[in-house]
Amino acid sequence: MPTSGDHAGARPHVVLLPSAGMGHLVPFGRLAVALSQGHGCDVSVAAVLPTVSSAESRHLDALFAAAPAVRRLDFRLAPFDASEFPGADPFFLRFEAMRRSAPLLGPLLAGAGASALVTDIVLASVALPVARERGVPCYVLFTSSAAMLSFCAHFPAYTDATTAAAGVGDVDVPGVYRIPKSSVPQALHDPKHLFTQQFVANGRGLVDADGILVNTFDAFEPEAATALREGKVVPDFPPVFAVGPLLPVKFPEKDPAAGYMQWLDAQPAGSVVYVSFGSRKAISPDQLRELAAGLEASGQRFLWVVKGAVVDRDDAGELGELLGDDGFLERVRGRALVTKGWVEQEEILRHGSVGLFISHCGWNSVTEAAAFGVPVLAWPRFGDQRVNAAVVARGGLGAWEERWSWDGEEGLVSGEEIGEKIKAVMVDETVAKKAAKVGDAATAATAKGGTSYRSLAEFVGHCRDAG
Ligand code: UDP
Ligand code: UDP
Repeated sequence: MPTSGDHAGARPHVVLLPSAGMGHLVPFGRLAVALSQGHGCDVSVAAVLPTVSSAESRHLDALFAAAPAVRRLDFRLAPFDASEFPGADPFFLRFEAMRRSAPLLGPLLAGAGASALVTDIVLASVALPVARERGVPCYVLFTSSAAMLSFCAHFPAYTDATTAAAGVGDVDVPGVYRIPKSSVPQALHDPKHLFTQQFVANGRGLVDADGILVNTFDAFEPEAATALREGKVVPDFPPVFAVGPLLPVKFPEKDPAAGYMQWLDAQPAGSVVYVSFGSRKAISPDQLRELAAGLEASGQRFLWVVKGAVVDRDDAGELGELLGDDGFLERVRGRALVTKGWVEQEEILRHGSVGLFISHCGWNSVTEAAAFGVPVLAWPRFGDQRVNAAVVARGGLGAWEERWSWDGEEGLVSGEEIGEKIKAVMVDETVAKKAAKVGDAATAATAKGGTSYRSLAEFVGHCRDAG
């Protein structure tokens, strides 16, 4: 039975190239399944082994098991000497190792018989020329917000027009809005930073892409989506396909009886605060303890996923130790569940007992909250997260306490302040109503005939025409 959406004709073979980290792997897996099961494409996903974290390795295995039609292509990296970058974040190092291995992509594409490549933004400037040389159309999947995409596309022109002495200030993205200096990713204030060099190269490279897929939906980010498409951000910009929120993959073997799910089942509707700061960074021990105090003082039920190290394999500390062993876990027993393990976040956000998500605003977390209409209390920590938090606030998905700083800057946010804020957001019915509306708009966008569904079908049409 044909599974295709709106176009007849040959099946394009789309090769997907994710980079490191769950924030990148998760949306690529979702795109793979949407293209394979919903839009009649042959799909291959390049897997780079060994992965940086155990979570990525488990996720790849689960993905290929859940979607057997999606082919696995092993992408072997060239040897890479990390000692050139002492102390660098392990995920940034992997980005660099992958970028330097880009020439190896040529044989991979030829061997696979690819009719299109979709590369991660982090690899865009190095993957595009290789695909071009092979005559394979190359698209980019942008794994963050359209606001961040517009910032990334504009930033090279901004730096060209700014003297090194002046440094990076507020950035007015043409046709979109101003990204204040305080929201510019920390690393970009240092022009020599590895991330800055990659970011500027990828931003410059974007105009050469055959198109850009972005995991957002038009109704959520109308300004950025429109400005990009109308060439206001960068003239002659490639087509932009807003295809989000990319929907979670169904993993049949996942454990429905996980302890936290059973615990959620026992809580009243909309009563639980879910707290998670994503897979990429640990929060400082002092701030963790203030957060514990805040959650306790809020008087609310909560499910808190605590992360103690950047890479999960290094996370050996006990929960009690991380939280200071002052009896907190005993005192909140019954109304709270605190875990250090990996949780199935989309199952949690889908659960009716969750009434608020305290989130770092990694873009996948934002799109998952949007998909299920769960209000967000934004507490960005790093990278693109303040830009995404502004999208949350503007788009009606929740609240952002802008004074709450990046990790390690401007001192700690006190438990008292955190507790007060949680209480205030939980009792504000308009917050929940507005978030539910965002959820409805997300559902409409991804349903057959919705804006995101049509955008994905349009992308597939491009791949077919080129094939
Ligand atoms: N995630 C999860 N369980 C966890 C932590 C994270 O399922 O315990 C998922 C989360 O649902 C999201 C992804 O991992 O899909 C994290 O991506 P995001 O962009 O939110 O943040 P990052 O981890 O990249 O900072
Ligand atoms: N990003 C980008 N260009 C790059 C690298 C990253 O535009 O060269 C964007 C991308 O959307 C990414 C975001 O910046 O999601 C933050 O990247 P970072 O690596 O800091 O965080 P991660 O995505 O690994 O959690």
